[in-house]
Amino acid sequence: MKLVNQQLIKNTNLKLLYNSVFHNRGISRADLARQTGLSRTAVSALVDELAEAGFVRDAGSSAGWEEMQRMAGCANLSSAVAENASGARRKAGRKPNSLELCSGNYYVLVFGWETDSVQVHLADISGAVSRHEEIGKGSSDSYIQLCRTWLDGLLASTVTRRQLLGICFVLPAMLDPTERTAFSTTVSLEYDGGGEGVFSRLQEAFPEHAVAVLNDTACAAYAEKVYTGVTEKDFAFIRFDRGIGAALFIQDRLLGDACASHTQFGHFSISPDGPPCACGNRGCLEMLLREDRLPERLPQKNIPLTYESLGQSALYGDTASMQTIRDMAFEFSLALANLVCLVHPSLIVLGGRIRRLGPFFLEEVRRALTEHSFHKMTDTLRLRYSILDSNACYNGAMKYFFDRHYQFTANMEHTFFIG
Ligand SMILES: [Zn+2]
Repeated sequence: MKLVNQQLIKNTNLKLLYNSVFHNRGISRADLARQTGLSRTAVSALVDELAEAGFVRDAGSSAGWEEMQRMAGCANLSSAVAENASGARRKAGRKPNSLELCSGNYYVLVFGWETDSVQVHLADISGAVSRHEEIGKGSSDSYIQLCRTWLDGLLASTVTRRQLLGICFVLPAMLDPTERTAFSTTVSLEYDGGGEGVFSRLQEAFPEHAVAVLNDTACAAYAEKVYTGVTEKDFAFIRFDRGIGAALFIQDRLLGDACASHTQFGHFSISPDGPPCACGNRGCLEMLLREDRLPERLPQKNIPLTYESLGQSALYGDTASMQTIRDMAFEFSLALANLVCLVHPSLIVLGGRIRRLGPFFLEEVRRALTEHSFHKMTDTLRLRYSILDSNACYNGAMKYFFDRHYQFTANMEHTFFIG
């Protein structure tokens, strides 16, 4: 038991140091000790361990050191080179003071399941995207089989099993870790065991790896938090994609982990007489604001209506488009005002396709909120669009897996995480 605790503490400290270098590239050992509160001796020993394993590298300014670094390269997975690096370190006499992350050594593989495709995203844990591909999926293909085949190809070519810290499956689905079920209205799990059997099938298909199944909106929210430096502890991320989803950080913790089982913001009803929704309710936000429902708002327009075309028309002064956006902003603000009363976020970020509506929509939502909300709770609320691209949720999945589930001090084979 004592050993387990020691390993957990060591893992926490290694993770703390790795992430400190992640956020402060070039940081010195002394500053790491100041920032983390660990002793200089502990920092030195743990950083040496991270360097030997090829997670971080010294990038000091000492001339002798730089020469040795050029000779040995970043500590990597080749034992011969690792020995050279250790030798170089000894010969250099003193440790340089600047630390960087190693790239090209460790990866997390992310598979994003979409309606007709699988997005494959191989992410270096230092942040670089190594590969991104799309695999087409036929209506009777199994997602799991497509992913397994792709992984086998990867392991036979460029990446070893040891370099692959874990595999994430990112689904547009509600994930229930207690009942071990998944529910999705946009991807069919028919050939993958269904909602009740998909987790067992995944576990059986990838036994030699650490596997995590995560919700897509939660991963996008995590990416926003990490990569755009969100400092607000209470933060809501709302994503418009095929549906509308939200992830909530409350006191810096992702509510319900990356499962999306605690919040279904898209099914917040704002009109009891509105159109019926697949969830069984009427007038859900998703039914009113989804992009594919735009033609019903402006039936007189003969051009294909998208958020982007509507936003552009409004930007150039088309009054019908401006009024439509005003109406949508008002409806959205009704749901937002209620969300604010429930969890009082200090920042709300809108991600996904809704950004294409442009600044006019955002301004109208802000204006509507000042008119239809509890002022005390919205006065200091910040509202903005996401500034990340459409691959953000895959990078978010990689970072979430690494931060939340990966352990430096444990054997990760056969581990399986939901959310
Ligand atoms: Zn609904």
